[in-house]
Amino acid sequence: MQNALVDFDPKALAEHLELKPFQGRQIFQWLHQKGVFDFDSMTNISKAMRADLKSRARPSHLELVHLAESKKSPGTRKAVWRLQDGETVESVLIREGERRTICISSQVGCAVKCSFCATGISGFQRNLSPGEIAEQATRMTVSDAMEGRTPNIVYMGMGEPFRNFDNVVASIQLLTHRDGLGIGARKITVSTAGEAPGIYAFAEMPWQVRLSLSLHAANDVKRSELVPLNKKYPIAKLLAAVDYYLEHAGRQITLEWALLRGVNDTKQDANELADIALPRRAFVNVIPYNPVAGLPYSAPDRNSAAAFRDHLLHRGVQVTLRKEQGQDIDAACGQLRRRVEEFASS
Ligand code: SAH
Ligand code: SF4
Repeated sequence: MQNALVDFDPKALAEHLELKPFQGRQIFQWLHQKGVFDFDSMTNISKAMRADLKSRARPSHLELVHLAESKKSPGTRKAVWRLQDGETVESVLIREGERRTICISSQVGCAVKCSFCATGISGFQRNLSPGEIAEQATRMTVSDAMEGRTPNIVYMGMGEPFRNFDNVVASIQLLTHRDGLGIGARKITVSTAGEAPGIYAFAEMPWQVRLSLSLHAANDVKRSELVPLNKKYPIAKLLAAVDYYLEHAGRQITLEWALLRGVNDTKQDANELADIALPRRAFVNVIPYNPVAGLPYSAPDRNSAAAFRDHLLHRGVQVTLRKEQGQDIDAACGQLRRRVEEFASS
């Protein structure tokens, strides 16, 4: 895969193109702050230079191939992007009141293969580059649906971010750059299925980016069934990494819990989760499962989901129960992409 200009920070961009530093900065601002990806619209650059750049550089990676707007949750939309090599990835913009959250992908597919997740089904193709990751957020942020608001960014689309650690870090540096979108690090969350070495490395980063851990089960038997990575990094090892993170980074973490009917929705599950969350002052995010065609899982009914949350509350856990968002456009993890592929191959 070839680089595009959107992969570089201003300094590297100037070096790559053999331009002056201020010119590198100007181009970076067009790409990352304004979301302008064609040279002809970069009006503070001379015509001659634009023509020269056009002949020797590719500004961006993504081409929009599908945009679905949710009818049930207006303002929530999902984009499918085609990459240079023909692979596709997706991003979601979620609207909840005043809040705008952009969910981006870090890999094409995912090798972790969690048993309930649509992304795992189609296997792993490749890592995304820093620009391929950041450009998803930039294009979503400059879209009219944002109404000028600053988004929260979550690395919860396709892929396991900590299996593409360096590019994810570089993409965050692009998104937080003051000549780019300048998104506050606290507004960015990286979600991992439990790649313990990544948690240790993340703890060393000199920033306020948040960490979310996809726990889903609080004992090894259940968790290994749901998240195969648990066999490599079982809960005790994972919690050692989390504790190291808490000590070194000093920031609260979130535990994600995709609530699956009859699998991880009992009082005992809630108790085991509380035993992990409470001593670590973790915030728990319970997400009713978004059903995936062909997989044997479903979401509990509303009352059972609320009872699960209430039990955690009763134990003193900080918890939110997410509303289903954009189910009608399959706005969870890899599903729309599969549908587009099925459509394309039929
Ligand atoms: N690979 C990373 C980040 C991407 S998945 C991770 O697993 O954390 C983002 C979140 O969506 C994870 O918590 C994942 O378990 C959850 N998820 C995946 N498929 C889902 C589905 N169908 N319904 C609800 N949550 C799902
Ligand atoms: Fe990969 Fe996350 Fe899906 Fe698991 S839940 S298969 S880690 S994307």
